[in-house]
Amino acid sequence: MQSIRDINIENKRVLVRVDFNVPLDGEQNITDDKRIRAVLPTINYLLEKKAKIILMSHLGRPAPNSRQKYSLRPVALRLEELSGRKIKFLNDCIGPQVESAVESMQAEDIILLENLRFHSQEKENAEEFSQQLANLGEVFIQDAFGAVHRAHSSTVGVAQFLPSAAGFLLEKEINFFSQILSEPQKPFVAILGGAKVSDKIGVIENLLSRVDNILIGGGMAYTFLKAQGLNIGSSKLEQDKLGIAGQLLEKAKDKIVLPSDHLIADKIDVSANVRTVEKEIPEGWLGVDIGRQTIAQFKQILKEAKTIVWNGPLGIFEIDSFAHGTKEIAEFISDLDCLKVIGGGDTAAAIAKFSLEDKMSHISTGGGASLEYLEGKELPGIVALKEIAEKSSNL
Ligand code: AMP
Repeated sequence: MQSIRDINIENKRVLVRVDFNVPLDGEQNITDDKRIRAVLPTINYLLEKKAKIILMSHLGRPAPNSRQKYSLRPVALRLEELSGRKIKFLNDCIGPQVESAVESMQAEDIILLENLRFHSQEKENAEEFSQQLANLGEVFIQDAFGAVHRAHSSTVGVAQFLPSAAGFLLEKEINFFSQILSEPQKPFVAILGGAKVSDKIGVIENLLSRVDNILIGGGMAYTFLKAQGLNIGSSKLEQDKLGIAGQLLEKAKDKIVLPSDHLIADKIDVSANVRTVEKEIPEGWLGVDIGRQTIAQFKQILKEAKTIVWNGPLGIFEIDSFAHGTKEIAEFISDLDCLKVIGGGDTAAAIAKFSLEDKMSHISTGGGASLEYLEGKELPGIVALKEIAEKSSNL
């Protein structure tokens, strides 16, 4: 894969795929601008090289009549504040107006195109749409780690038509995750949580031979506990994953560590009745967080670790009274002197909620992408860059 450093971008029109899929509140205010800040090193480098910068991104999953709700306009304003530069926002990502705005660009101008997903062809990786996007630039830089697990026009299609390379954010993300998979310093401990077992089975299978321990909490723990024959009350259960959960436990008895006690509640609500139980959960109650004993046991294992990767909160951390386990483990690892890599999505949100972002080695900007990377899957947006690099080295 080529790097942005290896490719001639001086004074060129550079089309950059970024991941500006930021969370917005009901009034279109950005509630977390981490993904915008994460792209600034690439933008600043392009400015130094006097490039003409054309940024493109998706935002959410817009339905046909929801343009305003999913407009990238608020992102343009925030990017202006963060970069100290004027950002020209365009109302579309292709078409004659976009083409003429791009043609009149001067060095160091920055354009942000409107949401790519306002065109259904983006997700279809339609060739004509990819070509129209590619026509806007002379070079393509991929910096949207959060989107490279999708084979869309802006992640795969455009790379077929332009000299292409990875931006600094994409490089950084790949460096951390590939270090974890290929040469982790031992002991290597993975912490997995979150709602669904089904999302994490591939990760467990791929990590088992590499890790010393996998600590499991959150909603996904209950399918494993049920597979061991324990009562889990009304806790989260994926019935169709009981078999595979049982097989994984069988295969890795001494590596997988499950919660031994739980905070249980009679409903998922701030006003719920709560108590702590060991092992079995009575009917009518559900596990909402790991218990004290489990927290202590997890800490005991984590304190020896040289590499930690964490994906998925250990309880329903959005409710303060169920956030204790996630918070204590986050605070504990933040003081450890080792490599600490946090998957994106809800885990990143939890770390932000506890103001511990500066204490981690790396917090990924891609939830789905980091999970697929840890599963050992080839990510289409990265494959596209590699194929282009191979082709040009064979010329
Ligand atoms: P995921 O996207 O799979 O990482 O799941 C994140 C979600 O898992 C968060 O919104 C948490 O509230 C939720 N979660 C964590 N622990 C539990 C639990 N014990 N029961 C149900 N949901 C949970």
